[in-house]
Amino acid sequence: MKKKLFAFIGLSVLTVGLFAQRIDEKDYHGQKDVSVVYFIREITPENVLKLYEALNEDNSGKIGVKLHFGEKGNKNFLNPELTRPLMEKTKATWVETNVLYVGERRYTDRHLALAAQHGFTFAPIDILDSEGEIDIPTDGMGLKHYKNVKLGKNFVNYDKYIIYTHFKGHGSAGFGGAIKNLAMGFASPGGKMAQHASDYPQINSPEKCVGCSNCVNNCPAAALSIEGGITIDTTKCIGCAKCIAECPLKLFSPKQVELAGSTFMERLVEYAYVAWKIKPMVFINVLANISASCDCSSRAPKPFCGDIGMVASKDILAIDQASFDLVAEQHKCEDPFLKESGKSGLSQLDYAQKLGMGNRKYVLIEIK
Ligand code: SF4
Ligand code: SF4
Repeated sequence: MKKKLFAFIGLSVLTVGLFAQRIDEKDYHGQKDVSVVYFIREITPENVLKLYEALNEDNSGKIGVKLHFGEKGNKNFLNPELTRPLMEKTKATWVETNVLYVGERRYTDRHLALAAQHGFTFAPIDILDSEGEIDIPTDGMGLKHYKNVKLGKNFVNYDKYIIYTHFKGHGSAGFGGAIKNLAMGFASPGGKMAQHASDYPQINSPEKCVGCSNCVNNCPAAALSIEGGITIDTTKCIGCAKCIAECPLKLFSPKQVELAGSTFMERLVEYAYVAWKIKPMVFINVLANISASCDCSSRAPKPFCGDIGMVASKDILAIDQASFDLVAEQHKCEDPFLKESGKSGLSQLDYAQKLGMGNRKYVLIEIK
């Protein structure tokens, strides 16, 4: 395989500041505090497999590929064909969990039907919570928020995972990368609720509401009312962020309370930490169709920057840091997700670093 140093030509003062975590390949001598992230520009099925093979994993055992089938109406989710050579080579199963909010992905039968409609037809699918959830104690892990976490019961049935993630914005988490995919993606609906609880959105410019009821109809907790103007009952809200994704006028946004924001991020990272700690896994992020909203949105928000490529790593923190940096570079902005979705996701990386999930320092090696 021909590998080439990812060259940066004409770095501006801004980009020099942005990529303090990235080191040049010539300065990389296998240091323990620097992780390797492979990068490939062209997004093709063959290149997904090429990236995976760069990680030099063996394909024995039962392998789950964790991905997202895309919400009904969403056009930004990743084309399943991209994973075809990978699925054939690894003989893996696509895995996912049901969501909290109303929609096609809430119940297993409808979730599977939607996956098939979206073209996920050429490999087996396992909805991990289809037979319930499993409580995993976190004793000795040094976590702040959880004594146990609730994952889909079938999570434990796999020997290892390939975490295959569409890297894009997210209304509550700032961005959704590998950490987010693990955190919400393996949690049962009860685990998702445990992460979201107390994190409710705010309503901006309620006088602009046109009374379409889209938020009310999609709220799983009956926490919204449009009688006499849009209001939210914060005693009922479970913080699922569905209204943020569903309002066509974008009247909802994550509540800008610093403590609440970091608490949600810490909860998210702690869920990811437990899954990461228990099972071996490697990571592939695809940087395409990057909009401010995630693939749970039934609308397809316009991407705010062009497609960038794909990255792969054995280090969950390094891959999300590298993905963030590549988007920041493309968007010429220090924090593109803060700018585009009103929420910075960087505290995810801060807390993952604190928990020792990997390195933020990395070397980016381009594969041709
Ligand atoms: S008000 Fe919004 S965030 Fe709260 S439960 Fe309803 S849809 Fe979810
Ligand atoms: S989705 Fe937005 S515009 Fe429609 S009723 Fe809810 S707040 Fe109003």
